[in-house]
Amino acid sequence: MEKIFISSCLLGEKVRYHGGDALVISSIMEKWKNEGRIVSLCPEVSAGFSVPRPPSEISGEGGGSAVLSGKAKVVKKDHQDYSDLFILGAQNALKIIVDHKIKIAILKEGSPSCGANFIYDGSFSGKKIVGQGVTSSLLKQNGIEVFAETQIEEADRFLAQIESNLS
Ligand code: SF4
Repeated sequence: MEKIFISSCLLGEKVRYHGGDALVISSIMEKWKNEGRIVSLCPEVSAGFSVPRPPSEISGEGGGSAVLSGKAKVVKKDHQDYSDLFILGAQNALKIIVDHKIKIAILKEGSPSCGANFIYDGSFSGKKIVGQGVTSSLLKQNGIEVFAETQIEEADRFLAQIESNLS
């Protein structure tokens, strides 16, 4: 049975920068949980960040993939560079995914780690731009299909397709 990687804050774990969660109530996720498919991690906490922690954004163009290649960085409001820890968190997530032979991830939209379709623009003014977080980018680079929490039905259809191709 195919497993699915999910950002742990989407499952109700209080690991977000503000100390809260981003719990998603979804019958599909409930079904996945009952089937024992879910594997989860918070990349940032796995890299050693505390809860709560100051918010971070990606500074520079190119989103998470530019952070991975050293062309952009993840900073907090004081402009201190935390890119190494964000990359470590992404690597921790990828390791678990590879260990479980996972092909699908559901990641929390907007996060500098997990953002699947958009991130914040680095100005700490609440402005969103199209782009991916560091973990999201590393997973995509390694062939993992990444969905946001707003795309759970799409992910479920993709899962059904993978499983029918295997049968
Ligand atoms: S790093 Fe990902 S899993 Fe952790 S709190 Fe942020 S969005 Fe959620």
